[in-house]
Amino acid sequence: MKHEIPIEELGVRGPLMTAPIESCVHCGFCLPTCPTYVTMGEEMDSPRGRIFLMKEVLEGKMEVELAQPYLDNCLGCQACETACPSGVKYGDLITEFRGRAEPERKRPPAQRLRRELALRTLPDGRRFRAAAKTGAVARKARPLVPKPLRPMVDLLPEQLPARRPLPASFPAAGERRARVALLAGCVQQELDPEIGWAAGRVLARNGVEVIVPAGQGCCGSLALHAGEAEGARKLARRNLAAFPADVDAVITTAAGCGSGMREYGALFLGEPEEEAAERLAGRTRDVAEFLAELGLAAPPPALPAPRRVAYQDACHLAHAQKVTAAPRRLLAAIDGVELLAPAEAELCCGSAGIYNVERPEVAAELGERKARNLLATGADLIASGNIGCLTQLQNHLAKLGRPIPALHTIQILDRAYSQTL
Ligand code: SF4
Ligand code: SF4
Repeated sequence: MKHEIPIEELGVRGPLMTAPIESCVHCGFCLPTCPTYVTMGEEMDSPRGRIFLMKEVLEGKMEVELAQPYLDNCLGCQACETACPSGVKYGDLITEFRGRAEPERKRPPAQRLRRELALRTLPDGRRFRAAAKTGAVARKARPLVPKPLRPMVDLLPEQLPARRPLPASFPAAGERRARVALLAGCVQQELDPEIGWAAGRVLARNGVEVIVPAGQGCCGSLALHAGEAEGARKLARRNLAAFPADVDAVITTAAGCGSGMREYGALFLGEPEEEAAERLAGRTRDVAEFLAELGLAAPPPALPAPRRVAYQDACHLAHAQKVTAAPRRLLAAIDGVELLAPAEAELCCGSAGIYNVERPEVAAELGERKARNLLATGADLIASGNIGCLTQLQNHLAKLGRPIPALHTIQILDRAYSQTL
């Protein structure tokens, strides 16, 4: 990949890369919030260092292969964006850069297979269930599994809950206050189908009619953030067709999906679908953000016993979508919840899409660090807004021998309403 930086050579998508490069003033304010800089201590593993590397490649001063190891270490968590006083859109830069570099990328066959398997399996419920069964067998014969595939096998769940597809709609209780369309989610429906049901029930209870459009599918964010832009567009086109325009919002319950759908405008920049993609992106709201803005019709009844809840920001909710206050407000509305804040809240937990498959050692180090910080709060319950983070936290809490429950914010609200928390 060799490019000179002048915009005309990069086409309409060029500013997605040139604007962040030009606006970085190298101040370093982002460094302490970058999980790879904090754990590895290398300038080239910091946002500032990666911006420099991408600039060098784009200006034709460096071969992309030299920059790639440091760019691969990036989790795409966008904590650097939150910290940046100059408003550098690092997320646009890394996503676009990866999208351009990936088609030319050469990988050893086993690594290519691992990546392909992750990207083809996770967004497809049937394949994911089949993979989980294969994983259970493969774990018993772990030494026979090729080394690059072992992290995948280790991450596959021992057991999946029974399938529980969402209904076509949840009618609003009482007077209708809003009408929304819900993204069911792909892997979330297999790992924890209750999250979608909880969202439907809580919204309906608060006067929101929820429809679950047929024909929808994976939002494409896993592919997009892994540099597979064409694959992401293919998946996103289904959703452009499936989601109706006559709703107040399109609701997502996984931070990664919400962030991916909000990037549809950029994903289709210069494509015939650009306008429709912009509209869908503009209607997308995280469930907590939408509900907190609408306001609870009535708070849940007081809990029978107090709960100490540590809220962990999902990076793609806090940093990519800038949703931080809404989930906390909803949890604080439950009488009996004491809300706790873990140390290093801005640091990614290491889950990050398929990152924990491709970079298992870094992901595990961050996962353990996060679990320890959460346990240090003295919480008896963890809340977060992304299935990937919840799974990573559950795994690492269990590894530390302290498997306290980790639930989606909307599940906690749902259980508070039904007095089962
Ligand atoms: S904080 Fe922003 S401007 Fe400063 S080095 Fe980081 S990305 Fe560049
Ligand atoms: S996206 Fe996250 S890991 Fe990547 S440079 Fe920014 S803070 Fe660091």
